[in-house]
Amino acid sequence: MSTKDFLEKDYYKALGVAKDASAADIKKAYRKLARELHPDKNPGDATAEARFKEVSEAYDVLSDSSRRREYDEARSLFGAGGFPGGFPGGFRPGPGGAGGTTSFDLNDLFGQAGGRTAAGGGFSDLLGGLFGGGRGRAGATPTRGADVETEVTLDFPEAVRGVTVPLQLASPARCRTCSGNGARPGTAPRQCPACLGTGLITRNQGAFAFSEPCRECRGTGSVIDDPCPDCRGSGVTTQTSTITVKIPAGVADGQRIRLAGKGAPGARGGPAGDLFVRVHVRQHQLFGRKGDDLTLALPITFPEAVLGATVRVPTMDGTVTLKIPAGTASGRTFRVRGRGVPKRAGTSAGDLLVTVEVAVPKNLSADAREALEKYVAAQPDDPRPHITAAVDGRA
Ligand SMILES: [Zn+2]
Ligand SMILES: [Zn+2]
Repeated sequence: MSTKDFLEKDYYKALGVAKDASAADIKKAYRKLARELHPDKNPGDATAEARFKEVSEAYDVLSDSSRRREYDEARSLFGAGGFPGGFPGGFRPGPGGAGGTTSFDLNDLFGQAGGRTAAGGGFSDLLGGLFGGGRGRAGATPTRGADVETEVTLDFPEAVRGVTVPLQLASPARCRTCSGNGARPGTAPRQCPACLGTGLITRNQGAFAFSEPCRECRGTGSVIDDPCPDCRGSGVTTQTSTITVKIPAGVADGQRIRLAGKGAPGARGGPAGDLFVRVHVRQHQLFGRKGDDLTLALPITFPEAVLGATVRVPTMDGTVTLKIPAGTASGRTFRVRGRGVPKRAGTSAGDLLVTVEVAVPKNLSADAREALEKYVAAQPDDPRPHITAAVDGRA
């Protein structure tokens, strides 16, 4: 008779007595029923025979004070017949190997006779399905893989246009030398003698078997006498792998890109973690960025600003001709449509913003100086009348 029977069967009801019935009442009820249902009295009556067995089983438990106590305890803890409807909801299975939390060994608790090795136990199967197929081994809970963070440095045009880059990732992976079992090649781990390979030590308390990770083997179920020289027995080494990552167009310096499911693989059927790529962008010798717009500083001469000019300017995508109108002030910005960060999902293409700066020559030839002096004489404009007024106290 197992704990599962305790939870499924109502022995008090079988005997028709109250839960607080005295031992004498239980005995009396049993005798009466046993007489009525006895197979000698009911030849060929299958229902009576089943009832007789039920009553006998109930009396076996309830007439023994310590077994009756275990039975009551089991049903008050988990609720009469409460499993599986009410059980897994508030229950967190498995210590996951961490923290040493004590947990119930579900197979001991609910498995058929023979415990965790029993095949086809209804509850074991149910829990196996619920919790990722582990059968009473410590840490059978599926675990999501860790998030992995890495960095990549892109050239400016790569960031603007988007690029596919190979990324080197260093991540823990199964040791190739020992195929992950942690033992020196040619040797093998042996079954842990303390837990007989189960990874769990079970102790009994009342009606229950409580299990905790085995300390001898730290829940792994095996002991390594001669550790693998490469992973020192852990079965895990750091390995670099290269994955190809598509960086979208328009990524900015310092931005973090999340690639779902490209992180560390999950354990025991859990999902993989995410890969976060921190992007650095090298400066461009000509262009800057302002969101989806590119910027370009364009020096022009004073005569070009005054008289106007046609200037060829580079873009990320060939050259364009920019017309500087006559009388353009230094610092004025011209917009070249569609020559910024390319169009991508949910955005329109950015522009190229060209800002002109009037360049001032530091050295003048004698002829140029003479020409400039002539210019001053011919055009004696005051470019700052408001300042002059303020200085003269006329404002
Ligand atoms: Zn062990
Ligand atoms: Zn190894």
